[in-house]
Amino acid sequence: MKQMDSLATSLRCIECGGASPLGYTLQCPTCGGLLELLYDEPLLRRLGTGAFTGTGLWRYAPVLPIADPAHRVSLGEGATPLLDCPRLARELGVQRLVVKFEGANPTGTVKDRSSATGVSAALQFGFAVTSVVSSGNAGSSIAAYSARAGLRSLIFCYERASAPKMLHMAATATDLVIYKGVYDDLITLWDRLAEEGLFFDCGASRNPYKHEGKKTIAYEIAEGLGWRAPDLVVAPVAVGETFIAASRGFAEMERLGLIARRPIMAAAQAARANAVVRAWRDKAAITPLKIGYTVAEGLAAGDPGRKGDWVLRILRETGGVAGQAEDEEILAAQSLLARTEGIWAGPTGVAALAVLKNLLHEKEVDPAATICVILSETGLKTEAAPPSRPAIAFDEASLRSLVREKVRES
Ligand SMILES: [Zn+2]
Repeated sequence: MKQMDSLATSLRCIECGGASPLGYTLQCPTCGGLLELLYDEPLLRRLGTGAFTGTGLWRYAPVLPIADPAHRVSLGEGATPLLDCPRLARELGVQRLVVKFEGANPTGTVKDRSSATGVSAALQFGFAVTSVVSSGNAGSSIAAYSARAGLRSLIFCYERASAPKMLHMAATATDLVIYKGVYDDLITLWDRLAEEGLFFDCGASRNPYKHEGKKTIAYEIAEGLGWRAPDLVVAPVAVGETFIAASRGFAEMERLGLIARRPIMAAAQAARANAVVRAWRDKAAITPLKIGYTVAEGLAAGDPGRKGDWVLRILRETGGVAGQAEDEEILAAQSLLARTEGIWAGPTGVAALAVLKNLLHEKEVDPAATICVILSETGLKTEAAPPSRPAIAFDEASLRSLVREKVRES
């Protein structure tokens, strides 16, 4: 089926409201604020859900900023499972729990949505090279989409990224550089180079075209529930790309009359990288943190920058909530999810579930609500020792005896 036209019209500064034309612009030319994309909303309202055709991320092409279908890069991202989880809901004591499993994307992470629109925008604006600084997931995703688009990629990757992520990056990137030290420090230096236009900015700090792809997660959740939003959506926050994009998606659908009302948004952070949670609890501005290692590698941002301020603004303006989880709680949530529902998500991916558990315990969220948790990555790229147990040799009798015993236990 023919892909629909993009109905993007302009960029708007989230600080001063100033409009810019649709070009490769990373920040407001007037005040330096972050930019967001605007669309032809009167036309979208008339089209309704008829605006969306085909499957996967590009089903939502009218609300994405890539004009020429020839520039739309795809590895089959989007259309990820939205799974009702009754056994997990019972364990947590909530009425209805659905999870959006982003590990089912082509490189096993929600980042494939932003890589799709980011790398497509690189083609749209005539760039030959993409680049990103990554703790692991973004690097392999941007590298894979760049390879798919025939672009060079220059990927900077955290030295403690898991071996499966490193292997994936080394295979798909044109150049993989492994860096020592803290993500935030390199990001600050790299952001300055991005302004020189040597490469297309595939970072999470500013580029409005890149993060727009993640907006489709909101469209898929609403469409999967019969064009209704859940009452609460729990989204992970490192610098806030997924959270902001999902929140923008729900707000847009509400304005377009596609859903009756937007959900409350909950921001989920690792306790070891909790700058947004602290600011929200203290009713204060964000104080950047020097952070160390967390099992939720993808959430290891101590300075969420201006996107962190945007997350706080959304939380405060819409009655949202923020929460955190310790590394041990994240790992416990990982095995709980695997055991009760058979879903294997990585630590970064299940952080939002661990945070939901804590928010329920703290009575910050209503257990009678319909809750959706965004699980941002697969567990298949996690590095871990295999479970330690002895291997057994069998003959027919000992095998029969073990099987009978195990089957009786169930
Ligand atoms: Zn501005």
